[in-house]
Amino acid sequence: MYMETKVKSILNRLKIRDNWFLVDYSVNPFMGCALNCIYCYIHGSKYGGEDTSNLKIKTNAAEVLYRQLKNRAKKREYGFVGLGSSTDPYPPIEEDLQITRELLKIIYRFKFPVNVTSKSTLILRDLDLLRKIDEKAILPENLKNKLKHGVIVSFSFSTVDPYLAGIFEPGASTVEERLETMKKFKQEGFLVGANLMPLLPFLSDSEEDLDKMIGKMKEYGAEFVLVGGLTLFGDKKSDCKVRYYNALKEHFPDLLRPTKELFGNSFAPSRTYQHKLAVLSRKIASKHNIRTNILEK
Ligand code: SF4
Repeated sequence: MYMETKVKSILNRLKIRDNWFLVDYSVNPFMGCALNCIYCYIHGSKYGGEDTSNLKIKTNAAEVLYRQLKNRAKKREYGFVGLGSSTDPYPPIEEDLQITRELLKIIYRFKFPVNVTSKSTLILRDLDLLRKIDEKAILPENLKNKLKHGVIVSFSFSTVDPYLAGIFEPGASTVEERLETMKKFKQEGFLVGANLMPLLPFLSDSEEDLDKMIGKMKEYGAEFVLVGGLTLFGDKKSDCKVRYYNALKEHFPDLLRPTKELFGNSFAPSRTYQHKLAVLSRKIASKHNIRTNILEK
């Protein structure tokens, strides 16, 4: 089920470049996300709040992006467009509607680079178009010497355990399918990487878990991994904090208390936890000879 909506703007210019994902712009083809990950921050945070049962299709997305990107191209304000920061750009409905594909055609038309993030194998459908963007995109001046690609293909994982993924990412393609898709893009010559976020406390954030995850990413062609911890927001039934704790109660009741203690009254675990995760991920990434940033130089 989905609803339709019209938007006035679809191209969001960031105040400053997001140096983690290298994006200067973000575009979300949909409102809400059909993949329905239990931990998804758009439920309850200031970044979203839409219920997944209310996935909204932006019916005029293509015409609005055309107008806005044409303007930016005229001023030569080139920068990576992050496709799908608050929604996966490849929900099942995309197979019929092809909204994301239309947006990619416009991105290609105006020669903008793009960072596409997904948990779906449907991205394979657009490999041809992404290849053309990769060849033709104009990079921002200050990235030209540091990057050889106009397309970054990023796959997200919070775990590589199929059982955990089935619980926490019920609408995503399976872990195996995502890994195989990443491998395919790598074989086709793309710059690919993995967003290992959010790592799930006590479930996928140990040294052993990270070693296994990062090793797998390397094995399947990722050139970089970006690692991030879990954030939990909101007190409503549909908010991610409530949904996450309910999932723990149902599947891992012993972890409910320690997880709540880890978060305390905050939306994120302590700085010490974050720091430990960052140090650990750098150490393990280095062991597997994989970057913890996108840039090639
Ligand atoms: S795929 Fe991303 S945006 Fe969609 S529900 Fe999962 S975490 Fe949220």
